[in-house]
Amino acid sequence: MFTSLSDRLTSTFKNLRTKGRLSEADIDATIREIRRALLDADVAVAVVREFAANVRERALGAEVSGALNPAEQVVKIVNAELVAILGGEARTVRFAKNPPTVIMLAGLQGAGKTTLAGKLAHDLRSKGHTPLLVAADLQRPNAVNQLSVVAERAGVPVFAPHPGVAGEDEVPTGDPVAVARDGVDTARSREHDVVIIDTAGRLGVDAELMQQAADIRDAVTPDEVLFVIDAMIGQDAVLTAQAFLDGVDFTGVVLTKLDGDARGGAALSVAKVTGRPIMFASTGEKLTDFEVFHPDRMASRILDMGDVLTLIEQAERAFDADEAEKMAAKVASGQDFTLADFLVQMQQMKKMGSMKKMLGMLPGMGQMREALDNFDEREVDRIEAIIRSMTPGERENPRIINGSRRARIAKGSGVRTSDVNQLLERFSGAQKMMRQMNKGGGGGMPAMPGM
Ligand code: GDP
Repeated sequence: MFTSLSDRLTSTFKNLRTKGRLSEADIDATIREIRRALLDADVAVAVVREFAANVRERALGAEVSGALNPAEQVVKIVNAELVAILGGEARTVRFAKNPPTVIMLAGLQGAGKTTLAGKLAHDLRSKGHTPLLVAADLQRPNAVNQLSVVAERAGVPVFAPHPGVAGEDEVPTGDPVAVARDGVDTARSREHDVVIIDTAGRLGVDAELMQQAADIRDAVTPDEVLFVIDAMIGQDAVLTAQAFLDGVDFTGVVLTKLDGDARGGAALSVAKVTGRPIMFASTGEKLTDFEVFHPDRMASRILDMGDVLTLIEQAERAFDADEAEKMAAKVASGQDFTLADFLVQMQQMKKMGSMKKMLGMLPGMGQMREALDNFDEREVDRIEAIIRSMTPGERENPRIINGSRRARIAKGSGVRTSDVNQLLERFSGAQKMMRQMNKGGGGGMPAMPGM
C-alpha cells in the first residue's frame, strides 16, 4: 500500500536530515520532490497544488523548535497536511435513531461492493448488530449468488429476489428499487437493526446506472450511502467520485484493494475533492481484510512512521483471552514455554492475517522493504507443519528430539532435516529468553523464531 509514494517521501526527508538549518531553497527543493512524488502516485493535480502550497507556507513560517531538527519539522508538517487531505478525523457508521439503519453501497462494477457488503456485515455482527444484506444488484447475472455466498461466510442472512437462494423471500425479479424497498421492510419486520443494500455497478459511469442508484436512494432514504472505489483506478478516481457525488450523492467513501500495488492517488484525492470522509479501507479478499480508515494512521504509514495502533487492534481482535491467561499463568509459575504453546501462539498470530501486512505496519519497515518483500508467508506454515509432525512428548520436551527423530519429523512435514534443526535452535533461544524474562519478573510474548 502506497509503497512507492512512501519510499519517495522518506528518501526526500533522508536528504534533509543531514542539514543543520533549512534555507528557503532547501524547502523549495523538498517541496518540488514531494510534488513530483504525489503526482507520480496519481494524486489529483489540484490536490497536489494545494498540498504543496500549504506545506511550503507552514515550513517557511515554522518556528525553530528545540525538540525537532529541521527535517523532523518538515516531516511533521507533511504529516499534518496528509492527515488533513485524508479527511482529518476517522468516522464510522452513524446509526439511525429508529432502526433499521439503512446503508446503501454504490460504485462501479468490480469496485468491491459485494465483497465489502460481507466485510461490513461481518464487522457489524461482531459488534453485536444484526445486519441483513439486500441484493439489489440485478444487473450482473451472478451478483445475487455472490452476495449469498458472501453473506453465508459473514454469518448473516440475505434478502434476495430469487426464491431458492435466500429461502422464502419472494419479490418481483428485475426491479432493484422494489427489492431494496422490500428488503428494508423485511429488515424492519424481522428486527434487523442494520440493512446493507448492494446495488448494481457498470464498468463505466452511465446515466441509467446513476438513475437507478438515485431511485433506490429515494425509495429507501438511506442513513449512509457509501461510495465504494477501487484504489487502483488512479487518475479516474476523481472523475468517478465526482460523477457519483452529482448523480447519487454519498455520505462516505470506502477504498478497496489497498493491498494491491495501488499508487494511492485515489485515497489522497477523493476525500479532498468530494469533501466526504473515507470511512473504511478494504485490504484483501478475506472477510477480515477490513479496517476503519484513520487518516492519521494512514499518514503515518505513508511516512513510514508505522501504524502500531492498527496493529494492536488487530492483535486484540485475534486475541483469545483464555489462552493468553493460561499462557501467562504457566510462565509465571516458572514452567517452560513449550513447542505446544508456541503452536497455539502461532495460530493466534495467523488469525491476525498476513504476517507481511502486520510487519509492514511497524515503524521504519519501509527501509526494510526488500526483506519484507522477500518474507515468505509459507515460512509460518512450514514451522507449523514441523511442530505438528512432532509427538506431544516432543513438543513438551524438545531435548528428546535426537537425530532419528529429527529425520522422522522432517519427513513427516515435508521439509529438510536442516529446517527442523534450525527451528529447534531458534526455539531453544526463545525459550532461554522467556526464562530470563521470567526471572526479571516480566511476562510477555517470546520472540518469534525466524525473525
Ligand atoms: P462489485 O462488482 O463492486 O460488487 O465488486 P466485487 O465485490 O465483486 O469485487 C470485484 C473483485 O475484486 C472480486 O474478485 C473481489 O474478490 C476483489 N476484491 C474486492 N475487494 C478487494 C480488496 O480489498 N483487495 C483485493 N485484492 N481484491 C478485492
